[in-house]
Amino acid sequence: MLDTREDLELSCPLCVREKLTQWYYNSPNNPKWGFAVVFDCKTCKVPLVVHRVHVDRFTNEERMSVVALVQKLFGSDAVKYIDWTMRNARDHAHCHVRLPKGFARGGVS
Ligand SMILES: [Zn+2]
Ligand SMILES: [Zn+2]
Repeated sequence: MLDTREDLELSCPLCVREKLTQWYYNSPNNPKWGFAVVFDCKTCKVPLVVHRVHVDRFTNEERMSVVALVQKLFGSDAVKYIDWTMRNARDHAHCHVRLPKGFARGGVS
């Protein structure tokens, strides 16, 4: 199921995923978080969690995984800054982690 539509959307900024910003997470083979990638949003300058393929929303299970991933990457306080509002790409599940300025960001590989 994963990756079947990957090559269809080269014009989608979330699919192109230009490595112009800092990456926090990109591990396709991880059984728990393989569906997600995390990098800084070019526009908002905060971490963005993006579904690897085109789906219009995260499932409840994936949402719980996203929360756990944000906690792992940025600490438990970061969880309250998760913004589930879909912005520019409404057919591509994503959420921002709107960390305030000065929030200590870790990042693991
Ligand atoms: Zn896309
Ligand atoms: Zn953004």
